[in-house]
Amino acid sequence: MKICDLFKEKKVVYSFEIFPPKVNDDINKIYDTLSELKGVNPDYISITYSAGGSKNSRTKEIAEIVKTKYGIEPLAHLTCINSTKEEVKSALEGLKGIGVENILALRGDRIEGAVKTDFAHASDLVEYIKQNGDFNVAGACYPEGHPESANMVEDIRNLKIKVDKGVTHLNSQLFFDNDDFLKYLDMVRLAGIDVPVQAGVMPLVKASQFGGIVKMTGAKIPSKISRMYSKFADDPESLMEAGIAYATDQIVDLISSGVQGIHLYIMNNSYVAKRITKNIQPLIEKLNKKA
Ligand code: FAD
Repeated sequence: MKICDLFKEKKVVYSFEIFPPKVNDDINKIYDTLSELKGVNPDYISITYSAGGSKNSRTKEIAEIVKTKYGIEPLAHLTCINSTKEEVKSALEGLKGIGVENILALRGDRIEGAVKTDFAHASDLVEYIKQNGDFNVAGACYPEGHPESANMVEDIRNLKIKVDKGVTHLNSQLFFDNDDFLKYLDMVRLAGIDVPVQAGVMPLVKASQFGGIVKMTGAKIPSKISRMYSKFADDPESLMEAGIAYATDQIVDLISSGVQGIHLYIMNNSYVAKRITKNIQPLIEKLNKKA
């Protein structure tokens, strides 16, 4: 199923993002996570690709399992900055071969010293994918601005170029202050970008996340989260509970504000995904019944 059709059917699309284990790590770990998620039934699961520039991504292998064994629509991430057109073409053929219909087209992170490239921006990849198969293509967006952009106006103008090349929905970078996302959404609409934008929510449930992924994305930390961290950083169980409560509250507010989708960065943690889903699913189901 093409994800663009989900947005036609539902008021709120609800999805998860998972990442493949590193090449030398046990692949079964991710299959255990997926088994534990049985019955949770997100609308789709996105699978990251080549984080840090590695070419040995297991995205395709995991996308196939998500689709065939779990019957959930996969959204395969694909990056381009460190790839040639031939390499991307072969990746597309591989995805088509296993029945993947949806791709999140990304530029990817710059690798210092890397030469290439046939692709400068994600918009080049979107265009190339559209020319090389019948895929539904999604893109990434940044409610606090992409770190390389001089300002938000420039970033949103570039986003419009990407969407106009054939993107049918956007998945946002994680953020913790809903007001930032809602203001961003207004700016995106004013720029004439009309595709659905899913809000990226990452539950902060472990102390290591604060210095790791959060620092990496440059997301602003609201004082509410700083207080939560100060109070519970040394108490993993309480931090987990507080993080689940914060993410639940964030999602309830986003849904109340009319967002068209929630994309939960579950960090391969099935326990957290299940707890949050249990909290918010009744709201989403009721809204979708009315759709
Ligand atoms: P782009 O859309 O190309 O934007 C990158 C920068 O270039 C922005 O500053 C933009 O304003 C500018 N730009 C874009 N088009 C133009 C243009 N035509 N002219 C001038 N400037 C332009 N990384 C991975 O390696 N693997 C993953 O699986 C992965 N998944 C992600 C999922 C999501 C939802 C998000 C938000 C990010 C993900 N990333 C992933 C990280 C992403 O690859 C990086 O943030 C990367 O720096 C930019 O990717 P992009 O696709 O947003 O790039």
